[in-house]
Amino acid sequence: MKNITILNDKIKDHDTLEQRAEIVFKRVTESFNLSSLPNISILFHTSRLSFDKSLGRKTEVWEVGNTSRDNKIDIIHPDCFAKLSSHADSEFDQILAHEIAHIFINKLASGNQVPFWLNEGLAMNIAGQVDRYKTGSDSMFIDERFTSHLANKNDWDARVEFGAYKIACLFTVFLIEKFTLDKLLEVIKKIEKNYYAPHFEESILQILGKSISDLENDFVFWSNRIS
Ligand SMILES: [Zn+2]
Repeated sequence: MKNITILNDKIKDHDTLEQRAEIVFKRVTESFNLSSLPNISILFHTSRLSFDKSLGRKTEVWEVGNTSRDNKIDIIHPDCFAKLSSHADSEFDQILAHEIAHIFINKLASGNQVPFWLNEGLAMNIAGQVDRYKTGSDSMFIDERFTSHLANKNDWDARVEFGAYKIACLFTVFLIEKFTLDKLLEVIKKIEKNYYAPHFEESILQILGKSISDLENDFVFWSNRIS
């Protein structure tokens, strides 16, 4: 059965894009253990204007993909990546995998609120987007209790230009290395309908056996060693 529907009938390379998206989709499914798979629709854009119109806002030059709650992905056509954004054409598969991972994470969380650092960090790990952050030598400014400043959309958006993706990515790399991806997916599965930090942090303590503040502290030591 097909899991991907391409919404633009007349797009260039329609069938090739569909096959490519199915391959990426299958790769993402391997990270999860879902009994039913989501059906995903993809709308390709060949101009920034069309992408912005579909999202209803002015997007940044690094933004090339977006996932809606109804499992729809808006994404720039792979031929236009380098022309319309700060990404190389070759990054298309990883970015599509990242967007598909968000849909799987949402499904696993039953549509409940997942803190941004965990949602974005997991999507980057599943999509194979960790190398540039793991091997990059530029240093980070890490706030005390940093995950508490990266949980909701406002805080996340305010920090996107100041290393939010990097710290979310590396902290989840650290957690996956220490506890496995399955354990983190267990945390996602137990997320309550409405995000409330003390309950979420209690769940981390129960599932991972360590408090979030201890883990953040351990992460800082680890992050000083990796590059
Ligand atoms: Zn994302």
